[in-house]
Amino acid sequence: MDRRRFLLALTTAPLASIPFVPFVAHAQTKGRTMKDIDALQKNWKTFLPAGATVPTAAEPLKLSKDEWKKRLPPQSYNVLRDEGTERAGSSPLNDEKRAGIYACAGCGLPVFTSEMKFESGTGWPSFFTTIPGAFEQKKDFYLVFPRTEYHCKRCGGHHGHVFDDGPPPTNQRWCNNGVSLKFIPKDGTA
Ligand SMILES: [Zn+2]
Repeated sequence: MDRRRFLLALTTAPLASIPFVPFVAHAQTKGRTMKDIDALQKNWKTFLPAGATVPTAAEPLKLSKDEWKKRLPPQSYNVLRDEGTERAGSSPLNDEKRAGIYACAGCGLPVFTSEMKFESGTGWPSFFTTIPGAFEQKKDFYLVFPRTEYHCKRCGGHHGHVFDDGPPPTNQRWCNNGVSLKFIPKDGTA
């Protein structure tokens, strides 16, 4: 494939790996070590509102197609159950900066904390690590190059793709559809 066709493939791709601006992310996560990342992963529950109860991946949620259709708004159904992709820049969660938890919109499993989020410039909510055990991964070949798709460990819902061009020290970029997420602010407001 020549360069022009490759670029064309990128621009028409549903979830193109639009290059993000590394220095933006680096500025936000400057000085973090893997020890800090471990701490972020271990302390994720401190981002929950007081007294909140959340499900765990040990209690799987399995529903029929019809049950999912009833439970989810059409856009969330399309992404979570049919591996669709929302339009870049369309999610209000791109601008969400409050402290809290990002849970799966399908089943409520906590998947990220606000401290794991960074501005990637791609138009999709992006994270440099996850709550441990939240996701399972598989390779897909939908585009011209293999990508790693990830889905919720509890309900199997599709969330996005993980790339290796994220900020150090993890160098991970979890590019997540906003409609697959539900934000739970730590202060308990809606
Ligand atoms: Zn889920």
